[in-house]
Amino acid sequence: MTLLDGKKTSEAIQNEIAAEVAAIKAKGGKIPHLAAVLVGNDGGSVTYVTNKVATCERIGFGSSLIRYEDTVTEEELLNKIKELNEDEEVDGFIVQLPLPKHIDTEKVIEAIDPKKDVDGFHPTNVGRMVAGLPAYLPATPAGILQLLQRYEIDTKGKHCVVVGRSNIVGTPMSILMAKGGYPGNATVTLCHRNTVDLAYHTRQADIIIVAVGQPGLITADMVKEGAVVIDVGTTRVPDASRKSGFRLRGDVDFDNVAEKCSYITPVPGGVGPLTIAMLMTNTLRASKKEVYG
Ligand code: NAP
Repeated sequence: MTLLDGKKTSEAIQNEIAAEVAAIKAKGGKIPHLAAVLVGNDGGSVTYVTNKVATCERIGFGSSLIRYEDTVTEEELLNKIKELNEDEEVDGFIVQLPLPKHIDTEKVIEAIDPKKDVDGFHPTNVGRMVAGLPAYLPATPAGILQLLQRYEIDTKGKHCVVVGRSNIVGTPMSILMAKGGYPGNATVTLCHRNTVDLAYHTRQADIIIVAVGQPGLITADMVKEGAVVIDVGTTRVPDASRKSGFRLRGDVDFDNVAEKCSYITPVPGGVGPLTIAMLMTNTLRASKKEVYG
């Protein structure tokens, strides 16, 4: 069994980006700039955004963090998005989700200029991805493709079972794995809450990608010998022995599943670190005007 080391892979990608930024700087070119909008004080969201900004600094990007209380109005937020759309210094920006209930998330996403939508959530980028046109790919599925590619895992003709159909992970993942090229060319099954006999499907899989948010959902009896298992799940479970009071658990019963796998991602240290690296990749592409010209 080989452990798919997301931390190491993420560092490699970030080092590649940092080298490119240094070269751009040396030539007097425009330094990529990422802006992040954070609403409220949710612990997870604050950590994610803080990490994103710190990563920008480390790899030589410019960054700005725009914070609002969770009482911010939809109008205020939409005005800020308009401003960021027009700000020539900002190459790409993200609005950290989830947003408070009184704000229409879809309206916010659709207000972002697709050219600056480095999360790849705008319907224009989703549509372009489906059509096989240049697009910003959502960071988590793009990170999983990087892991498969950098570990040279064969995907052609393989049966890939994706569990979970969110707009940010499961659905785009299923589309990308079914596309031509590498990684891709897989035969894909997409499972969700209404799937009858989930274990029947996962047992057929050469590659299982699970993004559900239910710790330990995938047990050893659900996995074929030699399968590749990618665990996107990150659920905070109470842990009194940690200073934070919690630890992260994946959707896979790692201890028992790992011994049956050819490759498996740990949680933490698997898919998670790649998400930030791919956000940085999208921001670099935005500053180089690679996607929309
Ligand atoms: P989500 O919006 O939370 O939706 C969960 C999905 O799982 C839904 O499609 C749901 O089906 C499906 N599901 C729930 N119970 C199921 C079951 N028993 N059997 C089969 N499918 C089931 O999904 P998400 O936003 O992709 O998040 C999933 C997990 O990934 C969470 O733990 C999240 O924290 C983690 N995550 C991690 C990263 C990272 O960077 N590592 C990034 C994003 C998400 P229905 O559609 O039928 O309701």
